[in-house]
Amino acid sequence: SAKQAGRGQYRFFDSSLNVADIEEFVLEQAFSAALEERQFVLHYQPQVRLESMQVIGYEALIRWQHPEFGLVYPDRFITLAERSGFILSLGWEVLRLACEEMAFWRSQGIKAQMAVNVSPLQLRQADFSDRVLSELESYGLDPACLELEVTETCVLDAEGQAIEHLQSLRKAGLHISLDDFGQGYAGFSHLQMLPLTRLKIDRSLITKLSNTHNDSPIVSSTIILAKRLGLEVIAEGIETREQLVYLRLAGCDIAQGYYFSRPMTADQLHKYPPFMDSMETTCA
Ligand code: C2E
Ligand code: MG
Ligand code: MG
Ligand code: MG
Repeated sequence: SAKQAGRGQYRFFDSSLNVADIEEFVLEQAFSAALEERQFVLHYQPQVRLESMQVIGYEALIRWQHPEFGLVYPDRFITLAERSGFILSLGWEVLRLACEEMAFWRSQGIKAQMAVNVSPLQLRQADFSDRVLSELESYGLDPACLELEVTETCVLDAEGQAIEHLQSLRKAGLHISLDDFGQGYAGFSHLQMLPLTRLKIDRSLITKLSNTHNDSPIVSSTIILAKRLGLEVIAEGIETREQLVYLRLAGCDIAQGYYFSRPMTADQLHKYPPFMDSMETTCA
């Protein structure tokens, strides 16, 4: 009964009854219930190769479909999920949903790639790389179809295990991209420490393009540097044709942003025409 549960909770908090603990407890309950009730969903935003203007894949972006609050965006809960440790279960749920969707694409003969965001905390799990590979295998998916988007915080992770996980996943054929490049400390040395395949230029740098008459030495030299390091360059947050034209001339390989499409639900995606173009991608 409620009375019993209340007493149980009281005992739980007895030794250290403070607001932070209670908040954490309530949030933890809400997260687990939401996970169990499958309230976390992925939306998908197309990534377009500029040379061919074809959709080559999609970034999976999590949303919390809350029964009362409606659609809750990740900026509202990822930090909390990281602080409470829930990000680990959430991360596996995201991977499962991404694999499920890709398996559906395969059943339709569509070979698009999926990019999934990974928190540095996830990379601290001893079994991270093994579990990612076995998840792919259980869905019969080629590892080359999955891209992990990591941030430079992974390099700063003292544990060091993060880089090893990324190396073995890279070896297995996954793509690894460095997300939000140009937003943080952005040490160029990080680029060589991580087994990257792609560099993602942060939206803040792309947004500035419009304010600087579409000439940004930072963006253009980042593209040149990344290419010298053998990386593909993807720009995020493209909203205008001018940005697209500039990036194309500057040698950017792939672009993503509202200019092409906002992130879509699976249902929207299945009806979106460029989806079919992705049949011609090289991903097996
Ligand atoms: P991100 O990985 O850098 O993702 C790009 C964000 O920019 C997304 O916001 C996307 O909807 C938004 N965006 C894309 N194109 C445009 C554009 O043209 N203009 C503007 N203004 N915004 C654009 P979203 O979906 O709210 O996600 C925010 C952040 O939450 C992500 O940034 C990522 O860091 C995190 N995130 C999302 N899904 C996951 C997840 O499954 N796991 C983890 N750990 N983090 C996630
Ligand atoms: Mg991302
Ligand atoms: Mg980003
Ligand atoms: Mg971002």
